[in-house]
Amino acid sequence: MNIMSVAALLQNTRQTLFSFEVLPPVRGRGIDPVFKTIDRLMPFHPAFVEVTSHRSDFVYKDMGNGQFKRVEERVRPGTVPIAYAIKQRYNVPVVPHIICSGYTQQETENELLDLAMLDVRDLLVLRGDKAKQDSRFIPKEGGLTYASQLCEQVNAFNQGQLLFGDSHELCQESPFSYGVAGYPEKHEEAMSQSADMRALKRKVDLGAGYIVTQMFFDNARYFDFVRRCREAGIHVPIVPGLKPLSTLNHCTMLPRTFHIDFPDELVQQLERCSTNDDVRSVGIEWCVRQCKELRDHDVPSLHFYTMNAAQMIEEICNAVNI
Ligand code: FAD
Repeated sequence: MNIMSVAALLQNTRQTLFSFEVLPPVRGRGIDPVFKTIDRLMPFHPAFVEVTSHRSDFVYKDMGNGQFKRVEERVRPGTVPIAYAIKQRYNVPVVPHIICSGYTQQETENELLDLAMLDVRDLLVLRGDKAKQDSRFIPKEGGLTYASQLCEQVNAFNQGQLLFGDSHELCQESPFSYGVAGYPEKHEEAMSQSADMRALKRKVDLGAGYIVTQMFFDNARYFDFVRRCREAGIHVPIVPGLKPLSTLNHCTMLPRTFHIDFPDELVQQLERCSTNDDVRSVGIEWCVRQCKELRDHDVPSLHFYTMNAAQMIEEICNAVNI
């Protein structure tokens, strides 16, 4: 049976939907915290749930004898089984992220085969973060450099073509449908805003059915981004990504990590905060304001980066009447 893809849901909705992203648990931990996050947010009827994907990195293991051993480890494995578990348990459309970073094309092909067999047909196609030890993105040998190349691999897969085998028949009736990432404040590596826009247009021209944005705290940036996308001929839904601030650490970590600016009014409020609780209440109030204004502008969905901490999102959903 073909059910509607997330891209089609977003393209056809007449009201602002609600959606969120969860992270797979840290290596060796159970899935319960992920389920707890979703349990809290299910009453708000999410239109879809995304599951992030994480490359492996080198970490130093304490050998207990004064020596450290350098080992490669995927700190948050399990995107595919977690996506499937969510789909089965909650009967909600689920969107696993697939990334180039740390993967060979063959490993990606295996993941696509797994997902197709499990009938998980929505993807968010991304390049993925660079390795922690590298100063720039370096693809794994046999891997890809740009998300657009991964879109091409998915497109070929949808045609029944395998790169490492003859062909397959898993996508005949329901091919993968996918979204991609966009950056209202420009991707950190892009040489200019217009170069970044051309890269985004390429992903959409290849078949991305929607865009999810990097988090932002100034709605004006999102509105301007949507305007520039439309001018560039990008007409797919653009889902705003939202993250409520909750700790003093966020005040410096989020701008540094995600290359985003806080608007002055928010900065002034944060400068008066001296505890995590202070930041949390500013963060909730600010995010509620953002949500209300975005919904007044009929955005396709209010999409939250939960970081597996659902309580704040729950409070925001209640305040916004989602
Ligand atoms: P791309 O679209 O490939 O762009 C990367 C850079 O290359 C940009 O600067 C772009 O302008 C440039 N570029 C693209 N094509 C070309 C070209 N042909 N020639 C020259 N330059 C080009 N990371 C994870 O590891 N796991 C996740 O689950 C994850 N989820 C995310 C979800 C969302 C909604 C967002 C916004 C980001 C997510 N990220 C995730 C982070 C993301 O992987 C990084 O921001 C990454 O650095 C870029 O990914 P991308 O898909 O936008 O890359």
